[in-house]
Order: sequence, then C-alpha cells, then structure tokens
Amino acid sequence: MFEKVLVANRGEIAVRVMAACEELGIETVAVYSDADRNAGHVEYADEAYNVGPAPASESYLDQTAILDVAERAGADAVHPGYGFLAENAAFAGRVEAADGITWVGPPSDAMETLGEKTKARTVMQDAGVPVVPGTTDLVSEPDEVRELGAEYGYPIAIKAEGGGGGRGMKIVRSEAEVAEALKSAKREGEAYFGNDSVYVEKYLEAPKHVEVQVLADEHGNVRHLGERDCSLQRRHQKVIEEAPSPALGAELRTQIGEAARRGVSEAGYTNAGTVEFLVEDGEFYFMEVNTRIQVEHTVTEAVTGIDIVRWQLRVAAGEQLDFTQDDVSIDGHAVEYRINAENPAEDFAPTPGPLTTYAPPSSIGVRLDHAVSQGDEIGGDYDSMIAKLIVAGEDRDHCLDRSKRAFDHFTVEGVHTTIPFHRLMLDDDTFVAGTHTTKYLDQELPDDA
Ligand code: ADP
Repeated sequence: MFEKVLVANRGEIAVRVMAACEELGIETVAVYSDADRNAGHVEYADEAYNVGPAPASESYLDQTAILDVAERAGADAVHPGYGFLAENAAFAGRVEAADGITWVGPPSDAMETLGEKTKARTVMQDAGVPVVPGTTDLVSEPDEVRELGAEYGYPIAIKAEGGGGGRGMKIVRSEAEVAEALKSAKREGEAYFGNDSVYVEKYLEAPKHVEVQVLADEHGNVRHLGERDCSLQRRHQKVIEEAPSPALGAELRTQIGEAARRGVSEAGYTNAGTVEFLVEDGEFYFMEVNTRIQVEHTVTEAVTGIDIVRWQLRVAAGEQLDFTQDDVSIDGHAVEYRINAENPAEDFAPTPGPLTTYAPPSSIGVRLDHAVSQGDEIGGDYDSMIAKLIVAGEDRDHCLDRSKRAFDHFTVEGVHTTIPFHRLMLDDDTFVAGTHTTKYLDQELPDDA
C-alpha cells in the first residue's frame, strides 16, 4: 500500500479521499490556493502546500506546481478527486511518468479514449452496448448537421467532444437553428474545455439519467455496483441523486449493469468509473463514461456497503477486487442532496458569505460529506457546493421520510442554500413518485437557457 498520497483537490472530496487514506494508514498531503489557507481539507491533511493564487487555473489546475509538491513531499501516489485535473489524461500521463508516483485512477490512455465522447461511443458500440443514435465522427459544417437532422428527425443535440454538465451542448429543434447552434456549441466547447470539436446526437425529449458504477482491478476483474438515478437536474446539472433507480425493473437493471461492465472491459479500464446512460420507453442508450470518482458515489456506497474510494486506492496499489459480481447486493435506498450556497429564489445564483450558523443533522441513516464548519467564509472562487447530505433508509419511502426529518434539523445561516428547495421536492408528487425525467425541473425554461 502507498505511504503518502497527495490529494489534488479541495473541499469535501479532498476530505473524503483523505479519510479513506487515514483508514488505510496512509499519510496525506493537501494542496491549497491562497483562498484556501484555512480550508477544511488543509486542516485535515498531515501536510499542506500552497500551489498558487485563488483562480483555479493558477493553482488547482497548475499541473507542474502540483507535481512539484508531490515530489517535494515524497508522495507515492496522487488522487485527483473530481473536477479540476481528474479527467485530464495529459496530467494522468505526467503522474504515471513521474518516478515512484502512482496515479490513483484509470490508465491515461483509457482516460483519453473514453474522455473523447465520439471515441467512447465507438468503443461501446464495438462492445455491443446501445448508444444514443448519432455520429461517431466529428462534424464541422452546417450541411452535415442538417443531413443528420433529416436522418434522425429533430430535435437533435450538437455536443462538444470534451463537454460535460450540459456545457457545450446545444439543442436544435429545426433546420433553421442549425448554423447558430453549431457556432455556439463550438464556442462553448472551446471556452470551457479548450476543444471546439463537436458531434451530433438524437435529442431525447424525456429520458431518465441512469448511470452505473464500475470498479476494475489490474488483474482483469471488472464489477459493477448497480446504478444511480440522477434524473433530477437543473439545466442538465444534477441536483439530487439516488440508488437504486426507481425507474428500472429487474431485467433492465441486469442488462444495463452488464452493458456497463462489458463496455469498460473493452476499453482496458481499471479503477473506479461511471458509465452514463439515458433511459426512455424501456430502452437504454449509452451517453458517456466519467473516468473518475463522482460526486454522487456516496449513494452507491450506502446501498452496497462498498467503500469505493478505499477500493480506488487498493486497486491503484495493485490489489485484486476480493468480491465477485454475485457478492454485490443492493440493500435499501439512498438519496444524496447537494447543499449549495445558492439562492433558489433568485434562479440559484451563488451567494458567497460567512457561515454564521452551520448545524447539520445527525442520527440514524444520515451521512454528511463536507469540509466546512461554522464561522467559515464561503468564497466565490470555486463551485458553490458546501455539503452533501446522504440519507439511507430501508426503502425509498423510508428514505424520503428520513430526509424530511434530516432537513428539519439542518440549520445554515449567513448564506442562502438549496435546503429549502430540497425540502420542497420532498413534498413534490412527481419526485416522490419517482417518475421525474431530466426535463422535469426545466419544464418552464427553454432547453438551452
Ligand atoms: P455530463 O454527464 O458529463 O454532465 P453531458 O453534458 O453529456 O454530460 O450530459 C448532461 C445531461 O444532459 C444529461 O444528464 C442529460 O440530462 C442531458 N443530455 C445529454 N445528451 C442528451 C441527449 N442526447 N438527449 C437528451 N438529453 C441529453
């Protein structure tokens, strides 16, 4: 096992990774920006190093600065968390190439293949996994897009090759919109992901977002840990996630899990990953692979009892998965609520400020992943998530009842949060029935608002 792991991240995920290290007897190294001198992850780590000014591009994304720290501190592995450099195959390659340092993640070449959405679509198709109808080639001219529009029927989506979180995706409802949408998808792809390549997919009107957690070791063992349902989204960004999915029957559940397993096996994948699908009318379609730990991994941990981050570290250290697919069982139900410093009444605008009161709930069935405490300042430099509340119960109804209880004992003052929004959802008939699609929250908004 490793002796010292550098965690190239901040906030709750950095603390989550360090907790797993601590349990394995591994020392931890934090990196931090000028804005994070007193942050929770810095306090948690055994050692901490400044890597630059507040803007992420000059600190948490500074590959050279982070590698320097890894070397200076004598770290023998780097865990990237999610976001920042987590899906950067070039950075993974640099870590792999560094003497005596292991990348806690998939091999950089698998990251590269699966990170490019058109390549990932090809890999999945070759593995016999159904993909969202669309191209595996990049498109560049409006005429090509119009041809595809005629072939699939509108609406179609023009998506950035490097895109994610709905960024770099433009929905096209008619031929007349093609030229403008193509331009803006390219522009967003370039601005957010430094890549203006785009491809075209059929746009599904009311799908469920269902994703499968996989774990693979370096000895050819690939397991899936069941699915998560992330259909409750605002502008294509996940808001509430749960496991298992209320939308799948036993047969579809088995099919989708096996498809995910086949797909990543084909790609020579190791470590943790997520295979995302859209599900509509009883059919499932591959969308993309996320080659990192995800924000919502917690709900899978709650229903399987498997510590995914611990396995990331063990697998990266060369250990074998010690359980079979049949050993994986799903018990009960879990829901994760993202607690963001945002004002739901003002279109979820971020609201930085001081956390004058921070009193989270506890008691049976409740897990809090956070890196803040009362008195902290919620800054505006990074994403607005301050905590994740994960609630588990014997079944979905029980889990939702518990969630209400948890929110009734969750007090945050000083900044607006998404807590009132979540509390409202727990009284929302569609959410409670579990029939919401990815479009549910945005019904009142235009698709590309
Ligand atoms: P990420 O999962 O990295 O956020 P995307 O930007 O590809 O990646 O997708 C985000 C969300 O956009 C999906 O969860 C889904 O709600 C929606 N979406 C993406 N592609 C399609 C599609 N072809 N049809 C309908 N919705 C889509």
